[in-house]
Amino acid sequence: MREDLAQVVDLQNLDLEIGKIQREVQEIPRGIADLEQELINSRRTLEQAREHFASLEQLRRRKEMDLEEITAEQRKRQGRLFEIKTNQEYTAVLKEIGGLKDRRSKLEDEILELFDQIEGAQGAVRNEDALFQEREKTCGEQRTAMEGELRHLQGELSRLQEERDRQASRVEQGLLQTYQRLLRSRGGVAAVPVRDGSCLGCYVSLTPQTYNELRRGDVLLSCANCHRILYWKG
Ligand SMILES: [Zn+2]
Repeated sequence: MREDLAQVVDLQNLDLEIGKIQREVQEIPRGIADLEQELINSRRTLEQAREHFASLEQLRRRKEMDLEEITAEQRKRQGRLFEIKTNQEYTAVLKEIGGLKDRRSKLEDEILELFDQIEGAQGAVRNEDALFQEREKTCGEQRTAMEGELRHLQGELSRLQEERDRQASRVEQGLLQTYQRLLRSRGGVAAVPVRDGSCLGCYVSLTPQTYNELRRGDVLLSCANCHRILYWKG
């Protein structure tokens, strides 16, 4: 391969590697944001479980207070039974006591059922709490690993960029300008190999003449379609 072409190919390989690492570097903050979102969701689920548990507890306390009130009411009525003079009044108070008894037994059933629900809700809080703790731990570990990877890639990137600058300074000025222009206009790929008679930049077939010239490697050639610099990869 011609010396100037070999220099351009080396430069292209460095630029491809730099581009790949830059994309990896850009992915990492996104990955960290995903982890944070995962943790926020997990915390929200835990909070919802806690709120559900608290609201059931509140409901239970309210029903227990109602029960106490009704029990006191019933006792008061029962005390009155001995002071009553008429049958009519007696029957009326007995009826009231009956109504209060019904309300009590209904409330007691509701409270019992609430205890079951509260137990379930408490279990859910424990589960969600354990899940959250676990997730917090793994997210923290993954985050540390990602940040380590980011530092490593950034170090790698600055090393490659220095190497790239050195390599670019070796390329003849006019050729370097052509290369840089193609790099910008052709999505970061300015020099491409040829395979099966086609340019690997745009996949258009080369003429037999271009192909033969390229194989001999004595002239600098561009693809007639995409204008990328071509090289023969033997
Ligand atoms: Zn092409």
